[in-house]
Amino acid sequence: MPVPLLDLTRQHTPLEDEFKAVFERVFKSNAFVLGPDVKALEEEIASYCDCSHAVGLSSGTDALLVALMALGIGPGDEVLCPSFTFFGTAGSIARLGAVPVWVDVLPDTFNIDLADAIDKVTDKTKAIMPVHLYGQSAEMECVQAFARKFGVKIIEDVAQAIGATYGGRKVGSFGDFGALSFYPTKNLGGFGDGGMLVTNDAELAEKAVWLRNHGMNPKYYHKYIGGNFRLDSLQAALLRVKLPHLESYHTARRANAEAYTERLAGHSGVLCPRIIPKAQSVWNQYTLRILDGKRDAFREFLSDRGIGNDIYYPLGLHDQECFQGIGRGGESLTVTPMLAKEVVSIPCFPEMTVDEREEVLKAVWDFGYAK
Ligand SMILES: *Cc1c(COP(=O)(O)O)cnc(C)c1O
Repeated sequence: MPVPLLDLTRQHTPLEDEFKAVFERVFKSNAFVLGPDVKALEEEIASYCDCSHAVGLSSGTDALLVALMALGIGPGDEVLCPSFTFFGTAGSIARLGAVPVWVDVLPDTFNIDLADAIDKVTDKTKAIMPVHLYGQSAEMECVQAFARKFGVKIIEDVAQAIGATYGGRKVGSFGDFGALSFYPTKNLGGFGDGGMLVTNDAELAEKAVWLRNHGMNPKYYHKYIGGNFRLDSLQAALLRVKLPHLESYHTARRANAEAYTERLAGHSGVLCPRIIPKAQSVWNQYTLRILDGKRDAFREFLSDRGIGNDIYYPLGLHDQECFQGIGRGGESLTVTPMLAKEVVSIPCFPEMTVDEREEVLKAVWDFGYAK
């Protein structure tokens, strides 16, 4: 039985009538950019993320970019970010002429290694960007202590972790900004691109609102050099249909992840992700480490059986062609290159059936990881 890595049809079919009604409503309103649905989604997401403000944006990448712009980060400034993450995290730093400083990650949680961050902080460091990779919070109390000690800002990359908690509090609410993505494969996936910033700082929120619309306030008077980073009304209206179901999606992902860990932990040659005591993951991905150089063979084995899988990410950002001569600190990284060769994500989507989950487990055992 083939098992996809993600099946959005199963998620969307039960809500199809609601989506169609929303389309009809926005279609007739002729208000297609920002507008009441964006405002309503901002309020709902701010509240969901334990934040007082939210600003709807065109993508998660643009959310990171606008956060850096609002914090005044520019040429010569250094921003600490993990090298083991999606391109958008560091691309936003480099696009502003700032320097991404590559920080290693921890081998069991895949999140930023603060001991390495301490080694790389300088008087040019302006911010740290923890990424809550695969849906699990970074150690945010330590990130906050770090930021206080060195006087730097925190931008949380929440693209994969909307709804995840640390010490019972939602991620995105710990930093100066949290950047969300509504890309279709994220836990709250839209129907195209979309993103949002959340913050508890009213002034920063206001600055982000201006920046997303060409730095304009009032109309045709430009206080900042912003851009077009606006969110569409239709996108916001459709996301509002899905938001009330988000917790149930998380619960279903968690059940899959817990079953995997329970039945795979302790098998030699394969390592399950570790969840830190204070965190509750939303499991955007369930990611195994396959040891002994067998990752690619394992992947092929899964693919031959029709079991969806993917590698997030096959190359550390410090090793990417576009960042040669741009970033700093890449030479010392050891965990990132190792993980790039060992990780593989397996199906964990909310609508997966128990039979499908068993099929995935059986494939892992059949490859040679039976106890
Ligand atoms: C998806 C993602 C982004 C970018 O979000 P987009 O909405 O695709 O621009 C940034 N960081 C991480 C970690 C992501 O997974």
